[in-house]
Amino acid sequence: MKPSLLWIFGSLIIAAALSTFCFSQAHPLPGPDVQQIYQRLLPQIDKIPAFDHHAHPGFSDDPDVDAMAAPPDASEALRTRDDNPELIAAAKALFGYPYADLSPQHAKWLVAKKAELKKQYSGTAYFNMILDKINTESSVANRAMMPDYLDPNRFPWVFFADSFMWPFDNTRETARNPDEGVYIPLQEKMLHRWMKQENVSKLPPDFDSYLKFISRTLEDNKNKNGIAMKFEVAYFRPTTFGDPTRDEAADLYARYVHGGIPSEKDYRTFQDYIFRYLVLEGGRLQLPVHIHTAVGIGDYFNLSQSNVMGLESVLRDPRYHSTTFVLIHGGYPLEREAIWLAAMKNVYLDSSFGELAQYPSAFKDTLKMWLETFPDKITFGTDCFPYNEVLGAEESYWLGAESSRMALAAALAEMISENEITEARALELAHAYLHDTAVKLYGGRVH
Ligand SMILES: [Zn+2]
Repeated sequence: MKPSLLWIFGSLIIAAALSTFCFSQAHPLPGPDVQQIYQRLLPQIDKIPAFDHHAHPGFSDDPDVDAMAAPPDASEALRTRDDNPELIAAAKALFGYPYADLSPQHAKWLVAKKAELKKQYSGTAYFNMILDKINTESSVANRAMMPDYLDPNRFPWVFFADSFMWPFDNTRETARNPDEGVYIPLQEKMLHRWMKQENVSKLPPDFDSYLKFISRTLEDNKNKNGIAMKFEVAYFRPTTFGDPTRDEAADLYARYVHGGIPSEKDYRTFQDYIFRYLVLEGGRLQLPVHIHTAVGIGDYFNLSQSNVMGLESVLRDPRYHSTTFVLIHGGYPLEREAIWLAAMKNVYLDSSFGELAQYPSAFKDTLKMWLETFPDKITFGTDCFPYNEVLGAEESYWLGAESSRMALAAALAEMISENEITEARALELAHAYLHDTAVKLYGGRVH
């Protein structure tokens, strides 16, 4: 029987529909084109000016680079050690470092080169020049205070809010382990700096005035170009927060404001209230709340008590829907779980530190999984930090940015090759991750 014209036409439509279906189905493995796609994407991704959502820029002799400090002799994961040879590649790329090692003799060359450049690029020009070299348009400066050598137009300030939770006698807190022996006195110092800033000579006698002092500090920090508040609270106590009443917190304040060592239970209850107060204030003042959510430095960091999932009851609490949360370090190494917290409309993830702790091959898998889950809720950051007087925030910036761009290109190349997304969509996702998603959180205050 001769097929009718209608039958042929019908078959063609079915064939076309089938081929569309085949085209749109994802494959489990990348094809042989994945290398080529990667090579094509990387230079385009390198050209995207980035917004670094989490970094600690500054010189190594500047104590305000962070509100806390690494405990002496803390273990460092392999790639984050200052003998990582990739940091020599960073010095070569940024400064034309001519040697293949960092022997003390050779290190002198690098120190002298940076000193010369600081003269040539005086004031704020030096770190602006570093940002230009790594194609970062602006970078968060998550610092205790801002120095005069960072340009506020390119380094928006994220200040620390933890210290309001430690106003009492901290003898017990400090003695818990050697790490807290370093951290807690620095929190006391930070609280006294906020008190000095607000002309408060001693803790107010009543709880209402204490809360007003906190709010005034936040408002003034916002006026001083602060774009967000940051918590490192995971270093100091568990990240599970109870929900005490204001009266309970006020009673505890009255009991301990003039002295006496709070029991651990009393102190945690008081802190639970202050943390939630700060979170609400972040909503009222449009100051996004950044929270350290990852394993941390120091051998006593308690990952099971202070991991990202401990925050779930706060993050999914509708009372805080006006507060924007940024989960700094994306919960690493629980980043698989953490991405599901971004189901909340007001919760975002920052990938910083993941790109330094992991090599690009592993970080690529992190990014890919995030891009396949909530691609519009993830942001780029380096967590750059000055290592020592030879290797500075400069090399750390370079390694973080390079690693992230490579891993991003590789993740997207696999997704294209596996038929998950088109190349055009991949570039949209790259812009969102490297710049646009984070910038949108600050209502025109950053670029
Ligand atoms: Zn950090």
